Amino acid sequence: MKLLVATGNAGKLKEIRSLLADCPIEIIGLDQLQNPPEVVEDGDTFTANACKKAREMAAFSQLLTLADDSGLVVSGLDGAPGVHSARYAGEQGNDEANNRKLLEAMASLPDHERQAAFHCVMALAWPDGRCETFTGTVSGIILHEKRGAGGFGYDPLFLVPEYGKTTAELPLDIKNRISHRGNALRQVIPLLRELAGQQD
Ligand code: IMP
Repeated sequence: MKLLVATGNAGKLKEIRSLLADCPIEIIGLDQLQNPPEVVEDGDTFTANACKKAREMAAFSQLLTLADDSGLVVSGLDGAPGVHSARYAGEQGNDEANNRKLLEAMASLPDHERQAAFHCVMALAWPDGRCETFTGTVSGIILHEKRGAGGFGYDPLFLVPEYGKTTAELPLDIKNRISHRGNALRQVIPLLRELAGQQD
């Protein structure tokens, strides 16, 4: 069975490939499609954006398609950066600038008000427009300075208290075990296995 994973983010694709390694599924990346459409992520929620991406890419490719929308939610900032996480500082995907802006926005917040969570909604869409969604979260604390060289996005600032490490310091297998994307994806896997079985 083929599954299009509709993300242009190499870090996410790597995480998803490693989580689906045991599934009897051929993963297709966006780089294997010719001129895929640009999907505008203009929804107000992670669910709206994930479904929009998955549906548009499934219609274009005629493949079962998995898309996610994810981001960082900081309670002390009324949920920001939220659905705007990737472009919080203006330019899409500029992690350095996003982290700087986050630290500035939180400069006056004391340690006990620095709780945050990564949220992820995985949407699985069929070429006929059906779409199912699965949500995962992981809780943490935003540090005052970056720590660690792994991961991407806000990982160097996101401390997971149970491990005493940021998600940029944790090995990928541990991040996958606890992450918002891992939690959401683990809910999709039984359905993917069932669908792959139906195709045998
Ligand atoms: P998306 O590609 O629209 O889902 O945007 C997600 C954005 O949220 C990314 O560009 C990162 O800034 C942030 N983000 C989502 N997941 C993670 C993660 O696992 N670690 C660090 N940052 C993340």
